[in-house]
Amino acid sequence: MAGIQGFDDLSLPELTLRAGGDALATTHAFDDEDPSRAEVFAQIPEASASDLDAIVEGARATLKSPAWRDLIPLQREALLHRFADAIEADLPRLAALEALDAGKPIGMAETIDIPATVGWLRAYAGWPSKIQGRAGALSATPGGHHVYTRREPVGVVAAITPWNFPLVLSMWKIAPALAAGCTVVLKPAPETSLSALRLAELALQAGLPPGVLSVVTGGGEVGARLAAHPGVAKVAFTGSTRTGQAVLSASVPDLKRVTLELGGKSPSILCADADLAKAIPEAAFGCFFNSGQVCYAGTRLYAHRSIYEAVLDGLAATAAALPMGVSSDRGAQLGPLISRRQYDRVAGFVDRALASGIQRHGDAPAAPEGGHFYPPTVLRDVPPDAEIAREEVFGPVLAVTPFDTFEEAVALANDSDYGLAAHIWTRDLGTAHRAAAELEAGTVFVNCILSADPAFPFGGMKRSGLGRENGPDVLDAYLESKSVVMALP
Ligand code: NAD
Repeated sequence: MAGIQGFDDLSLPELTLRAGGDALATTHAFDDEDPSRAEVFAQIPEASASDLDAIVEGARATLKSPAWRDLIPLQREALLHRFADAIEADLPRLAALEALDAGKPIGMAETIDIPATVGWLRAYAGWPSKIQGRAGALSATPGGHHVYTRREPVGVVAAITPWNFPLVLSMWKIAPALAAGCTVVLKPAPETSLSALRLAELALQAGLPPGVLSVVTGGGEVGARLAAHPGVAKVAFTGSTRTGQAVLSASVPDLKRVTLELGGKSPSILCADADLAKAIPEAAFGCFFNSGQVCYAGTRLYAHRSIYEAVLDGLAATAAALPMGVSSDRGAQLGPLISRRQYDRVAGFVDRALASGIQRHGDAPAAPEGGHFYPPTVLRDVPPDAEIAREEVFGPVLAVTPFDTFEEAVALANDSDYGLAAHIWTRDLGTAHRAAAELEAGTVFVNCILSADPAFPFGGMKRSGLGRENGPDVLDAYLESKSVVMALP
């Protein structure tokens, strides 16, 4: 389709939902808006209850089909690698779809989002041949028995994802689920449906049987129906804490398996001995990256009083130097927020903070007009009980507070409902290890930011989530263990 400003040659995926390969005649649709320009450019089909039933039924049928269930592990691996090849070959188009839909700079989608999506799929593509049960004898029961365990796919997985890293966060679920032999119904956020629809096309092109990866588009109502659907065995959810709580409640009647990756309010501690030339710009970027729409962004910063003013000046200078631009702008580092609603939410937090007497440090850099752009903002001397220090903003807003002792800094950092990530900047190894042990967070970053990798677990303590994604152990979330006990004659 021609004519989307900045993306003239971009063709959209087919805006059609499929149940086990069959196109559905959907009757409702919703607007898809370009956040860089606040203009609607497409209509996305909205799944009805019967559309959803058909899609889940298709996924259930494929789960038991010989074409998927009976693949030997190395065949499954080869298929997943072919899927990764197809995504890689489609990188320019997928990146443009993701940039356009999520409002993220095209350079970022090309170098971060799509390569990470491929990387996750390749990392888990190697697992099918390594998933093994155990064999042995009974140890506390007399009589001769041979016992073994089978590792079986848990069933149909509902993957429900947010709009900030649509493809990457979807693949965090799809890759281990498919490696385990599950089938997946992916529900992207309504703001960012395009890359999911394209991913489903690529899955079919790569030879995955129809129904292995299905997409259902729509908003919260569709998500709620999917999360409660009796045909779904497991829900892998990433989104806000409030929605995560609803997903967990919906899982109760069927005792569905659930993993939740939720919100955060992650602290950064800058000790007096930190390498400030590295710590200040990285800590700033760790908050402002993706325009602050990052679950594990470091949004509360505690700086030792001896370096406090220098840190504030450096943070403000970094904020002012980050170029903002529309998603097709190759010079942009920051794009718009996803929607007017999100803009109003972020502006509301900052306006209330300023009205309460909290001060901005440095001038707000100019933001482009037309889209939902909010400038990176540094707030100083933020009291620990201020709303802006406690609530997840999900925008480029950094709350800065001084501290005097290490113990005080750790207490401030841990004084939160959330526990997704924490950062410590120090040159002292003892301080780093002490902080790593004492900080209440699923990931502690020492002198670095924003790292996630299929090699290590990612997830939250407290209200930041339930269970972990990534790492080899995530496969357990998509597998059941079945014990087979065989009496020997
Ligand atoms: P959201 O919770 O509003 O929506 C997430 C997804 O859930 C969307 O697809 C939405 O349509 C769907 N949904 C809405 N209501 C539902 C319901 N009742 N049942 C089932 N699904 C429902 O979140 P968002 O605004 O799209 O994303 C921002 C939030 O996501 C932030 O809180 C952020 O911290 C969090 N997030 C967490 C991580 C992580 O890994 N921990 C990563 C990215 C984003």
